[in-house]
Amino acid sequence: MKDLYGRNINYLRISVTDLCNLRCKYCTPRHGISKIKHDEILTFEEIEKITKIFVSLGVNKVRITGGEPLVRKGILSLIKKIGEIKEIKDFAITTNGILLKKYAKDLKQLGVNRVNVSLDTLDPKKYKEITRGGQIHKVFDGIEEARKVGLDPIKINTVLVGGFNDNEIENFVNLTLKDNLEIRFIELMPIGEAKEWDLDKFITNEVVLDKIKELKEIESQDICSPAKYYKLPHAKGKIGLISPITHKFCCNCNRVRLTADGKLKLCLHSNEEIDLKTLLRNGQDIEDIIIKSIQKKPKSHNLENGEYTKRNMMAIGG
Ligand code: SAM
Repeated sequence: MKDLYGRNINYLRISVTDLCNLRCKYCTPRHGISKIKHDEILTFEEIEKITKIFVSLGVNKVRITGGEPLVRKGILSLIKKIGEIKEIKDFAITTNGILLKKYAKDLKQLGVNRVNVSLDTLDPKKYKEITRGGQIHKVFDGIEEARKVGLDPIKINTVLVGGFNDNEIENFVNLTLKDNLEIRFIELMPIGEAKEWDLDKFITNEVVLDKIKELKEIESQDICSPAKYYKLPHAKGKIGLISPITHKFCCNCNRVRLTADGKLKLCLHSNEEIDLKTLLRNGQDIEDIIIKSIQKKPKSHNLENGEYTKRNMMAIGG
């Protein structure tokens, strides 16, 4: 599927729930966000149906996200169905890792190739603080299990927050020396709770290169990846910098998003949504609607002019 700007849209990100077992401070209010009503959430059958339509239109990469995808009841039955779609060449999941130890083996067996784990600090106390109660040892156990069962590569997503974890950059980078990990630093975006945060919390990824002079840029194997990649000399793993604020990567954008309540989002930062769930439930032919919608994918985001999505990241999935 090509969009108006010649971009090949082959990547579907599916948020399967708006619920999460953590309350990360930049993402979620202390008491959570108002839950989407149960019957507004796509059923597994609907997700499977929509995914198959996207696949018939050329999607070959699918990521399951949330909220926290592993808290959705019966998630493995959906994973199994998606894992059986043979045209999908890259099947991944984004998780906070809290439940990964329990699920890693089944995920691998049911066709998931790889996993991205969100982890903003390596310090148990700070982890508890930023996630409002999370226990970091569960994430470490989850990563270890994912490695054991062969979910590969494991990518760690670290949102840089000024004054919180910028003093841990070196520790994160050093993790790549012995392990084939990808540590991806992500610039904090003015979405969710972070919208109200002071400017000094928003630091640019340049700080990583300023602090770690030995990092050398390497070629990315995937030109559609939002990350620019770097490596320490002799390191097994690599460092990715995802800089939506300071470096737009929209010209290579190959993705669309399906929210847990069945809306198609053509750009993470735009408020335009296509209500696939209602169309599907009304018996309409959504294939045609998807094809037409793709032509409306914006050329780029417009964050610099203050255009932010109203949805919380929990309701989109990152
Ligand atoms: N629960 C899963 C997880 O933790 O990976 C998936 C959903 S979570 C919303 C997806 C990603 O969005 C996480 O890596 C989180 O750190 C990131 N995120 C949430 N709010 C953000 C913000 N304002 N700026 C940058 N990243 C954000």
